[in-house]
Order: sequence, then structure tokens, then C-alpha cells
Amino acid sequence: MNNNIKELQKVIDECNKIVFFGGAGVSTESGIPDFRSVDGLYNQSYKYPPEEILSHTFFVHNTEEFYEFYRDKMLCFTAKPNNAHLFLCGLENAGKLSAVITQNIDGLHQMAGSKRVYELHGSIHRNYCLCCGAFYDGRYIASTQGIPHCEKCGGIIKPDVVLYEEGLDDKIIKDSVTAIADADCMIIAGTSLTVYPAAGLIRYFNGKYLVLINKSQTLVDSKADLVINAPVGEVLSQIKI
Ligand code: ZN
Repeated sequence: MNNNIKELQKVIDECNKIVFFGGAGVSTESGIPDFRSVDGLYNQSYKYPPEEILSHTFFVHNTEEFYEFYRDKMLCFTAKPNNAHLFLCGLENAGKLSAVITQNIDGLHQMAGSKRVYELHGSIHRNYCLCCGAFYDGRYIASTQGIPHCEKCGGIIKPDVVLYEEGLDDKIIKDSVTAIADADCMIIAGTSLTVYPAAGLIRYFNGKYLVLINKSQTLVDSKADLVINAPVGEVLSQIKI
């Protein structure tokens, strides 16, 4: 066990109000690609960059093309929770974790058994009719072709995913801020913190230990009490609860 892992073990042992803030790097070990990292595949098969396709404007004006990309790249039902997800569920069950705040939309934390999960960017598992609000799960979207329409009223269905140009849910932000402000330890993992609101939310943390786990350096490394540059699941699987 290297010194960083020992240090993290001490922090986990000591703290009882831990908040975990996770980005795309938490899911990559489950085989879900980070669509923000430039991937040749996208460039080959799509006329637009993912950031443009996943924008509100594109959804409104090119709904069919949006769904083509969305079904192909975003809807994934085969991924399984990895060691990071399982560790966090265990930490919550042990009464040491107050919340998971995630930028991921894959639902893997809930699949692992975590209860208090704040999904800043929504979830592929929830979809709503834009006209009547009827709910549809992710598999329903996967089973349709072209633009999915509501079975009750014929309205267009939209994923409960925060697209570019769209604002985040106020209640989720509020709950996240409350959890962070009350935490004794904040673990930020699998994100380079270039995407808001991550960087902004850290401001509310007044606890004892700020821990960063990321494969590469981040913008706030200098503010952290402990920085571990390694895959998240690999790190957390070495920690005992
Ligand atoms: Zn409807």
C-alpha cells in the first residue's frame, strides 16, 4: 500500500460526513466513454461534435438526429457498477457518506445500491413527454425509432438529461450545496473540474479534508489536502470501510 492510499484510509476512518463528487472518470472503468474527450469515433460517424448534438438548440431543431446519436452513444444498459460505485454504497451503508453528487447520467450509483445520489446532469433512465409529462424509462427510448412520441398524447419525449445551454435543477444544486457545506470530507474524483458547476460547488466546502482522485492533474490540486493521480475504482478498492 503506498503512502497516498494509507493517508486516504486515515481520512476515511476519521470522517463521518463524507461527500463524494464524481465526474466522467468514475464511469470509465465501467466502460462508459467520456464524451467530452475527443473520440475519433464521433468524428467519423457524425457530422457534428457531441457538444453540439447534445445542446438544447440541436434537440429542438434536429430532434431525429439528436436521438440517433443519443441512442447510439448515450443510452447504455450493459454497463455495470465498478469498484468505485460499490465502495460508495458500502460507505453510505456504514453511515459515513452523506451524499454522492455526480455529473454522470448512467444511473450506476443507484444500480450499485447508493440511496442519496444527486444527479447534476440528470439520468438516461428518466424521460418525460414534453406535453403531458408522462414518464418513460430508458429502455422505452431504446425500443423506439426516430423521434419517440408519447403513447398517451403524441407529444415528443425528452430525456431528463441536462443538455448544453440548459440550466441545472435548482433543488439538486441546493441539496448538493447543503451536503457539501456540512461535510467533514469532500472527495472529488474522475473530473478535471473544468466543467461547471464542479469548480463553483467546492467553494461551499469548509470541512477538514479535500481529497482529489483523478488520472491527471486538476485545476484545484493546490487546494487539496490529498491528491491521488490514479483511476478512481482502483484507488477506492484498496480502502477498507
Ligand atoms: Zn404525453
